Amino acid sequence: MALPLETLLDTLSARIIAAADELTELDSAIGDADHGLNMKRGFEAVQAERQNILAKPTGEALKTVGMTLVMKVGGASGPLYGTLFMTLGKELPEQPTLADIGRALQASVVALKARGKAEVGNKTMLDVLGPVAAHLESGTASFDSVRSLATESAKATIPMKAIRGRASFLGDRSIGHMDPGARSSEILIAAVCDVLEDKS
Ligand code: ADP
Ligand code: MG
Repeated sequence: MALPLETLLDTLSARIIAAADELTELDSAIGDADHGLNMKRGFEAVQAERQNILAKPTGEALKTVGMTLVMKVGGASGPLYGTLFMTLGKELPEQPTLADIGRALQASVVALKARGKAEVGNKTMLDVLGPVAAHLESGTASFDSVRSLATESAKATIPMKAIRGRASFLGDRSIGHMDPGARSSEILIAAVCDVLEDKS
């Protein structure tokens, strides 16, 4: 399928901006209360670059989204989400299937793990992105199964103890709260599913 880039950019931006307070609230429990603000600033910058981004072929457009997020989000999550979009831009063919999206997301997860020196199970965004990438790559995924897996995986970070990121400074006190980055990843994945399902 040809990726509906314009709708994707607008839906992802709108969902993240709408969730800014919730994400900041989650980060206030186990971090420094800025994840929603950081992500909102990043996606507002993507919206400001919208025309420039949409004039490019898909791969270059996604790389520009990634670079914009690196520059504007800041915090730990900026370079990580930046790496995610830049790797997607590098790996996705012009007309990707769901399995191609899975392969590209898997490559992004590998790049993200290297960048953040983190693994699945450390209570980060990887706890959503990792399982979703593996599920998509398995070739058995549907939009519904991806959305439910993202939701369950974000919830599954609640009982985890943070090993990476600012939340790890809290040790055992990080237990009992959802990881903010896991929640923002869930929101992004659900938004992509909603857009692609609507267009397919
Ligand atoms: P900061 O922690 O610098 O304030 P944010 O609040 O924007 O940055 O983002 C926090 C989120 O970033 C965490 O909830 C977690 O999901 C993610 N994160 C932090 N460090 C890492 C890491 N090393 N690897 C993967 N994700 C990480
Ligand atoms: Mg923070």
